[in-house]
Order: sequence, then C-alpha cells, then structure tokens
Amino acid sequence: MMDNLNKRNEYIQNAKTIVVKVGSSTLTYSNGLLNLNHIEGLVRQLSDLHNMGYNVVLVTSGAIGAGMGKLGLKERPKTIPEKQAAAAVGQGILMHMYEKVFSEYGKTVGQILLTKEDMTHPVRKNNAHNAFSSLLEQKVIPIINENDAVVVDEIKVGDNDTLSAYVAQLVEADLLILMSDIDGLYDCDPRKNKAAKLLDFIPEITEEIEACAGGAGSNLGTGGMATKINAAKISTSSGISMVIVNGENAKNLRYVLEGKDVGTWFEASKIN
Ligand code: GLU
Repeated sequence: MMDNLNKRNEYIQNAKTIVVKVGSSTLTYSNGLLNLNHIEGLVRQLSDLHNMGYNVVLVTSGAIGAGMGKLGLKERPKTIPEKQAAAAVGQGILMHMYEKVFSEYGKTVGQILLTKEDMTHPVRKNNAHNAFSSLLEQKVIPIINENDAVVVDEIKVGDNDTLSAYVAQLVEADLLILMSDIDGLYDCDPRKNKAAKLLDFIPEITEEIEACAGGAGSNLGTGGMATKINAAKISTSSGISMVIVNGENAKNLRYVLEGKDVGTWFEASKIN
C-alpha cells in the first residue's frame, strides 16, 4: 500500500492545474435547496488551494436541482423543456452563491457553460481552450457546467463526470478530483454488502474494475460509479490521474494534494 501512496505523492509533486467536479447530491438537499454548509466548505478549500498556487477549475452540477428548489417542484421534472427551465433558473442561483462565497475569499470566478461540440469540434475546442487559458492566466477560477438550458441531449444522457474529464483534457490538467456522495470505488456495493472494501489505487481500468462499478455503460452503478469509470477512462488515457473522494468533507481536497490515502486513485496511463 505504501508503494501506491508513494506513487500518488510523486505524481502530486508536479501537479499545477486541478479540475474539481462536485455533484448535485453534495451541493443540494433532496428538496433542491442549496447545502450551504457543503458549498462554503468547498469554496473555502478551493480558494485555499488557489492561494497555494494551484490553478483551480470547478465543474459544478446542481443547476436542475437548485432550479427545482426555487420553482417549488417536489420531484425532478420529467419533460425536457421543464428540465431546461429548471436548469436555466438553477444555474443563476448556483453562480450567485459561488460569486458571493468566492468573493469573501477575494477570488474572481468566471462561468463557462459548455456543450458537447465545444469538446469535439476542433474550432470550438480551440475557442474553449483559449477562454480557459486566458481565465487561468488572469488568476480567475473558471466554473463550468453543461449548458443544460439549450442542450437537450445532455439532459437526456449527459453527465458531469464525463464533462469534467473532457474539461481536464481541455485545460491540460494534472489532476481530476471527483467529489461524490461515496468514499470512492468499492469492490462491491457498500449499501448492500457491509464487507465491501474501498479500493484505494487503480493502476488500470480492467473488466473487473468495471464490474465493481456495476458494469460498463450501466446506469445502475454503485453510487453512479459507471459514469465515474467512464470519466476515469477519458482522463487516465490522456495522462491525467483521477481521484474520487467523498464531498461530505471538503478537506478531502486538501488531503488528496497532501498525498494522504483518501478516496480511490486512478493512475494516469503513460503517454509517449
Ligand atoms: N448538468 C446537470 C445539472 O447541473 C448535472 C449533470 C450531472 O449531475 O451529472 O443539474
């Protein structure tokens, strides 16, 4: 195990640009209202990492959730236009809160709402890359989400785990951290099996690892693990290590960068 920790530590030594993705269940309560405690903890930690000299990029979910809260919807909207409307309302609420709390720590934030094409179409990809570079050069913390109000495909099938891996590629990040509602990847579903063991280090994403996540492409993975494995594949194959930690404790971000043994680490593939 020490060996794996050493590998993590060695990797972190050279990390400069960090992409952090945080999920709806960390940012909002099940009624859609914002979890201020989690948001404040997250922003404080991100601001501190920024003070330490890291480039920090935040990929945030929670727009639809926050929109539901504001619109007084009791359950997640079913039709696409309703989801679009909830996202349009909720995105503003999220940004208002981020702007407010990051300002308390003297940080400037900038919003970028991406669509799939911004990551796949060469010209648009380049445009997005330039925007990120300019923001980071000016010490701004970019805050990213998908443009849910207009991209219906994303609302049907998109997820911010995958988005964050594309963002990590775009900004040529050194590390991608996914903050989840679970401690990491287990060898079996911890909600069903008390003996489930947390996997601390994944050198390679094998079929066995995919099986731990509920199988490739499954939507029924352990705590939404299938999309996280997908993100890990995109990220590690681009030479960027990824780690899943529990978003319940924002200090986990710091622990990762201090080389502590938290969460599940997915080792970057060597790029020649
Ligand atoms: N973009 C969606 C939102 O802000 C979230 C997608 C996801 O949670 O993966 O509500």
